[in-house]
Amino acid sequence: QPEGKTFVEAGLKQPSMGDVDMAAIKEVKPVKELRRVGAHSHIRGLGLDEKGRAKFIADGMVGQTEAREAAGIVVQMIREGKMAGRGVLIVGPSGTGKTAIAVGIAKELGEDTPFVAMSGSEIYSSELKKTEVLMQVLRKSIGVRFRERRTVYEGAVAQLRIAYVKHPFNPYVKVPREAEIVLETTDDSLKLRVGEEIAVQLLQLRVRRGDVIWIDAETGEVHKVGRLCSEKRYDISAYKCVEKPSGPVKKDKEIVHMLTLHDLDVAYAAQRVAVASFLGMPLTREIPSDVRQRVDEEVKKLINEGRAELVPGVLFIDDAHMLDIEAFSFLTRAMESELAPILVLATNRGMTKIRGTDIEAPHGIPLDLLDRLLIIRTRPYTAEEIREILKIRADEEEIPLSSDALEELTKLGVERSLRYAVQLMEPARIIAEREGRTKVTVEDVRKAASYFVDLRESVQYIQQYEEKLLK
Ligand code: ATP
Repeated sequence: QPEGKTFVEAGLKQPSMGDVDMAAIKEVKPVKELRRVGAHSHIRGLGLDEKGRAKFIADGMVGQTEAREAAGIVVQMIREGKMAGRGVLIVGPSGTGKTAIAVGIAKELGEDTPFVAMSGSEIYSSELKKTEVLMQVLRKSIGVRFRERRTVYEGAVAQLRIAYVKHPFNPYVKVPREAEIVLETTDDSLKLRVGEEIAVQLLQLRVRRGDVIWIDAETGEVHKVGRLCSEKRYDISAYKCVEKPSGPVKKDKEIVHMLTLHDLDVAYAAQRVAVASFLGMPLTREIPSDVRQRVDEEVKKLINEGRAELVPGVLFIDDAHMLDIEAFSFLTRAMESELAPILVLATNRGMTKIRGTDIEAPHGIPLDLLDRLLIIRTRPYTAEEIREILKIRADEEEIPLSSDALEELTKLGVERSLRYAVQLMEPARIIAEREGRTKVTVEDVRKAASYFVDLRESVQYIQQYEEKLLK
């Protein structure tokens, strides 16, 4: 494709949203984010009562009551549409639950509300421009909920949607063995292998990707009952398995998928990448702006048709003082756009220079942005709070702690940091397991603490050698 030509001019079909396989895209989840949210998987909300007061322990949240109550007010403002153009800044020492509170806000807005956490320093990448990194995280924080009406045939042994392929589909080749066709259900937990008889019928029916079939329980006959989405031949996966063995009953069902704008950008750009690489065009990791425009247009169209709705999520940026002036002005502009997530910044710095300038500002954040931020404070935890948080995490990670092990971890949490204490739990469990114990004891915790040091110790250790070298 000569440069400057559009796809249409070059005689190529523009990829359309209908070609996007939602199920396939849903699989693509960045590993980093999953891990991060994993540390906060026990948080199910802000744990507030009807009057917005924080219960000491609720929804996986412990203590930090003032900040949680403040966050509850922010949630109400978001629901009432009063947070447009504004954001939140959480200030407090590290390890005081700033991320946890941001997760709580997202959870209060809805179970499937997108939540993206990053550190300010992540914008400095050698491969992507700072604004591209920010654009991607902003679009990861905006969900699109798709609603699809589907006809489901209940009562069939298996109702299947043909989805993808493992070996080329050729109707003239006899199916060799039963293992050749694997039918999978949507929940991934169940894989159906069909016998040769059914496999032959599937081939005779010339099923294609997107076809829905059902198999009669009594006769074993296969029927094609309709089509669902785009075409692509080859392998066969089941869509839905219904146990009831009588004749099928037609039913309408609403199916909801949640994807982010970024998922759609990636899927859409991937189709162009395939074309571009075929034509020998240079590839970049940046998503072209016209791809984003197209995605926005398509999404708007679906919204107008009542087939989709936008779900603004929460974008949490920790160590916000690491952002620079360019990033701040980009975010300030982004907050004004109609497609903006809730921006939650966090920092543990006081007066400091705004990166990329010589200007000192509160928290290293420019004043025009600060003007739009509601500031929430988090306080250091008490021993009691730390103990309760550790209990919840031990429960979440399924680590049985003896009461003295819990006390030892609490002590470490107070003297060193909560994060350090949480991190020691899994090593302590492994040590206990090696000794043939199912419960973690105080010795296991001490041993884990001797193997793995905290930040203060690791720094002291290195300094000791540096001093020796200088002598
Ligand atoms: P910060 O962002 O202030 O550094 P954080 O939220 O990242 O803090 P960590 O120091 O990583 O918190 O906290 C360790 C663990 O304790 C995490 O799993 C976090 O979810 C959990 N945690 C922190 N505060 C609370 C709280 N108030 N209630 C329940 N769990 C909490």
